Amino acid sequence: MGVIFNPNKNNHNQNRAKLLQNFIQKAGGCAIIDGGFATQLEIHGADIKDPLWSALCLINNPNLISKVHLEYLEAGADIIVTSSYQASIPGFVSRGMSIEQGERLLELSVELATNARDEFWESVERIGDHSYNRALVAASIGSYGAYLADGSEYSGYYGKDVDLNKLKDFHRRRLQVLVESGPDLLAFETIPNKLETQAIVDLLEEEDVQIPSWICFSSVDGVNAPSGESFADCLQVINTSDRIAAVGINCAPPQFVHSLVQKFNELTKKVIVVYPNSGEIWDGVAKRWLPSKCFNDDKFNVLATKWRDSGAKLIGGCCRTTPSTIRGLSKALKQGCLGTN
Ligand SMILES: [Zn+2]
Repeated sequence: MGVIFNPNKNNHNQNRAKLLQNFIQKAGGCAIIDGGFATQLEIHGADIKDPLWSALCLINNPNLISKVHLEYLEAGADIIVTSSYQASIPGFVSRGMSIEQGERLLELSVELATNARDEFWESVERIGDHSYNRALVAASIGSYGAYLADGSEYSGYYGKDVDLNKLKDFHRRRLQVLVESGPDLLAFETIPNKLETQAIVDLLEEEDVQIPSWICFSSVDGVNAPSGESFADCLQVINTSDRIAAVGINCAPPQFVHSLVQKFNELTKKVIVVYPNSGEIWDGVAKRWLPSKCFNDDKFNVLATKWRDSGAKLIGGCCRTTPSTIRGLSKALKQGCLGTN
C-alpha cells in the first residue's frame, strides 16, 4: 500500500490533537479524570464480583451507573470514563445474551455517561456562577486481559495462541459500536504489552477512527510494561499514530507514577495521562484488594501535584479512588488556575 497524501485526513489528525489540547487549556492546563468506577459502585452496595465487573451494572442497575457518573462530575471531573472497561460482546454472549443485546449494552454505557454529563452541565449552567467545565466522555476499552479476567492485564502474558490478528478481532466490533455511540474520546486502559499496543494502533487506522484516543499501560515494577517490554518499545509504536492523542499509565500504584511521567516525557511528544490506583494491591487471581495502610487522599494529592509539575496534563484515579479523591485532586491541581468554562 502506497502512501497517498490526503489533505482531509491530515486536517482530521490535527483537529484530533487540537480538540484535546484546547480542552486541557480550558481546564486550566491540567484536566481531571474521574476515579474508580467499580469501587464507587461497591460503596453503593453493588455486588460486582463477576467477570463482567462494573459492566454487570449495565445489565442490572443502569441507574446506579448514572448516579456514580454524577458524583464524579460533582466532585470536579473534567472527563468521565464509561462503565465499559470489562464489557465485551463475547463477555455478554457467554452470559446467554445475543450479540445485538451485547452491542446495545455497549451503546448504553456511552449513553448513560453522555446523559449524566448533559444533565449535570444543564444544572450548573442554570445556577450560573460555577467553576465546572463541560465534561468530556471517554469510552473505556479494557485490554484483552481485562476480558479474560484472569489477571493477565498485569502480567502481559496472553499465551502462545494470541497473535496480532486475534487481538484485533477481539477489539474490532466493540470499538466500532463504541465509536458509533458518539463519545468524545476513547480510553484504552491497562494495556500490558507491545503486541496489544500494535493491535490498537493498526485497528484505529483500519477503521479510520476519528475520535481521539488515549492508551494507558499498567505497570507492576514501575519501570516497564507488565510484559517486561520497555516503554521505549511500546511508545515507539504509539508515536507512529496520529490517532492517539495521549499516552500514559492507569491502575499502577501512585508511587510509580512520577518517574514514569518523567520517562514518558523523554519518549513522546503526546499528552501524558495518568490515573493510578490507590496503591492498594490487587490480587488478580483471588480477585480482591490486599489491604494497605499507606494510602489516603491527601497523600495522593501531594503526589499528583508532582505528576502535574513534571508534565502530566490529564490526571485522575483508578481502582479504590473515590469522588472524595477526585474532589481533593481537583482542588489541589487547579489552585491558582481559573477554568474559563
Ligand atoms: Zn484500576
